[in-house]
Amino acid sequence: MFDAGWLVPGWPPERGGRNAGPVEQLVYMEELERAGIPRTTNPQGLGIVAPSILDYGTDAQIRDYAMPVLRGERTACLGMSEPGAGSDLAALSTRAELDGDHFVVNGQKVWTSGANFAGFCFLFCRTDPTLPKHRGISVLLVDMDTPGITVRPLPEIVDPGHPDLNEVFFDDVRVPRDNLVGELNNGWAMANGSLAHERGMVWLSSVMQLEGSMARLLDELPARLAPMSAVERGVAVDRVMGLYTDVQAARALGYRGFAKLVRGGTAPEQALMKVFASETGQRLALVTAELDGSASLDTTPGAAGVRDVVNGLEIYFRTFANTISAGSSEIQRNIIAERVLGLPRT
Ligand SMILES: Cc1cc2nc3c(=O)[nH]c(=O)nc-3n(C[C@H](O)[C@H](O)[C@H](O)COP(=O)(O)OP(=O)(O)OC[C@H]3O[C@@H](n4cnc5c(N)ncnc54)[C@H](O)[C@@H]3O)c2cc1C
Repeated sequence: MFDAGWLVPGWPPERGGRNAGPVEQLVYMEELERAGIPRTTNPQGLGIVAPSILDYGTDAQIRDYAMPVLRGERTACLGMSEPGAGSDLAALSTRAELDGDHFVVNGQKVWTSGANFAGFCFLFCRTDPTLPKHRGISVLLVDMDTPGITVRPLPEIVDPGHPDLNEVFFDDVRVPRDNLVGELNNGWAMANGSLAHERGMVWLSSVMQLEGSMARLLDELPARLAPMSAVERGVAVDRVMGLYTDVQAARALGYRGFAKLVRGGTAPEQALMKVFASETGQRLALVTAELDGSASLDTTPGAAGVRDVVNGLEIYFRTFANTISAGSSEIQRNIIAERVLGLPRT
């Protein structure tokens, strides 16, 4: 995809694109999603880390870290969250102290997706503890095979054999000073830029996944409704149609925000999309599991309630990840209240 200019079509050919316009990109992304083709197995690398290095990195960092991620030769993980710093990222306490031409890193990250496979980490650390907490943060590119790094995978409750989340420990890890991304103590601006990359890319695939789940639910609906009493059926149809409307609204909201951005305006819809799409997905998974009744608890392959490899209730459990990662629903609502609606801070 990189070589053919299909990886990030809006970028120039030397970065894996073909200088496509915004509408062309949207159409392409829709078709790719419809065909079920993933652009990458390393979403943090493609969606957040590589674009951030392209924005802020040196020529050498772009050559050695961003381009190999885009070419699919290396994978990157994103080291932001810590046990004491998630929503409040600025509270992070992993330290990086300068010692000659190296930083010495000590601390712990958690929920680091793909750290167990990653070639390097885009690591947020505190480089000046005397400054206010939003300042004094920097980003380092840390090769994961550097001595002193321990990665401990965290088994997921619904799929213990396939861990993606990790704890990562740093004990006197020496990182060359040249691996500092951007300016010293400028990490906060980069954090906002990095997450903007992530938030920018999520809405379309979220909406299309919603539509896929809704289409499947509608296919199955007549068989689910048939054995129900009239009252039960009325309630079930009401809930499904309410969700159907929400799925349509999610697409309309996404298009509306997109149209405003293409015309060069700002789009408050973008702020709403993450919370609306992830919570609609959660409600949809719950209603689907409820319609399946006790079958949604069955884990036997091929059983009525088993979709893909997991049962309906597990699909519902999994939806919690989407309402937490990249900014929890509560944090999104704070952002909407303060930045979109202009409500006062409490
Ligand atoms: C699937 C998945 C993948 C992830 N991948 C990565 C990754 O690759 N790299 C990485 O660094 N992190 C990753 N994370 C971590 C994610 O960024 C954090 O989980 C998220 O920022 C929330 O932080 P926390 O878990 O510490 O919860 P906390 O911040 O402790 O929040 C706990 C609860 O309190 C609420 N809350 C917190 N502050 C406020 C407030 N001011 N107002 C109202 N409510 C509030 C939250 O909404 C939440 O319900 C991932 C998480 C998930 C679920």
